[in-house]
Amino acid sequence: MLILGIETSCDETGVALFDDEKGLLAHALFSQTDMHADYGGVVPELASRDHVRKLLPLCDQVLAEAGKQRQDIEGIAYTAGPGLIGALMVGGSVAHALGFALGIPVLGVHHMEGHLLAPMLEDNPPAFPFVALLVSGGHTQLVRVDGIGEYQMLGESVDDAAGEAFDKTAKMLGLDYPGGPRVAALAEKGREGRYRFPRPMTDRPGLDFSFSGLKTFTLNTVNRAREAGELDEQVRADIALAFEAAVVDTLTIKCRRALQETGCKRLVIAGGVSANKRLRAGLEAMTAKLSGSVFYARPEFCTDNGAMIAYAGAQRLRAGQRDGERIVSVPRWPMNTLPPVNEPRAE
Ligand code: ATP
Ligand code: MG
Ligand code: FE
Repeated sequence: MLILGIETSCDETGVALFDDEKGLLAHALFSQTDMHADYGGVVPELASRDHVRKLLPLCDQVLAEAGKQRQDIEGIAYTAGPGLIGALMVGGSVAHALGFALGIPVLGVHHMEGHLLAPMLEDNPPAFPFVALLVSGGHTQLVRVDGIGEYQMLGESVDDAAGEAFDKTAKMLGLDYPGGPRVAALAEKGREGRYRFPRPMTDRPGLDFSFSGLKTFTLNTVNRAREAGELDEQVRADIALAFEAAVVDTLTIKCRRALQETGCKRLVIAGGVSANKRLRAGLEAMTAKLSGSVFYARPEFCTDNGAMIAYAGAQRLRAGQRDGERIVSVPRWPMNTLPPVNEPRAE
């Protein structure tokens, strides 16, 4: 079954063609980052309008790359939420219009399920069950995964997401958005042990996270260094490293706990922050000690992309799930309300 995947939940237009026998045939991404940079954050209306401009040309591009025609597409998956309502509606409208014209099934999929399943696009995909750490710009969640659509929430952030903390730290250090990769690059020049940041909520039981206190700690550290006239490139790198180490340690401690509590040996990490090298290394070391293993996607499939939506949609479309005539756009949508893949979806 040849599936076209469409991602437009935020500021990235992602399109992909996935064949459930041959695998991923082509994918393309346009990032609006430069357009929003002048405003210091994503402007929803500008995002929607740019998705309108980019989506169909990207669809044509992936079809050309895969040597396929529109008529060859057998199903369409689009991101139905969570995300920016206007941006979601662009993807949903195009998906439904194309699906209607071609007479093929269309399905709105969950953006975080897309992230969660992205590591399945790689060689040696993880088998169920596993524990998943979803770490992105808007989410930090630990989930027990027994199958597609069988999600049990183990813990989540009570305030900021890990990616958001990276982005805010970047801003404090004078770095551009998206901050994660820039903080990580700066941290490589940092001196180990120069600062020590707290590991929030690791001193008590439970699997929830909190990153807003860490953000304040970073801000205070930056301000103190600035007032002392010490905030040069080296000190900024030291702060970036201390911050990154604190986030990685905190996530690693909670992941270890989740593996021990569930008895799972496999850990899957997904979402933009799962591209972080220090996090990958920390989790590799931790899971090795438990005789377990960690799975993740290639960096371009950690952040938003069309391939993960095509893959998640393919699993559900193949099982017979599809939208009715209505476009589905849901800005807020808890992932544990999704149906298991083998049950028909209620309209
Ligand atoms: P959500 O998926 O929760 O709706 P989103 O789609 O904005 O949010 P993603 O695209 O999954 O989030 O990831 C973007 C986030 O990942 C940003 O916060 C970015 O700073 C962070 N990020 C990307 N690469 C890295 C990295 N190497 N290290 C740390 N953080 C990173
Ligand atoms: Mg993004
Ligand atoms: Fe995302």
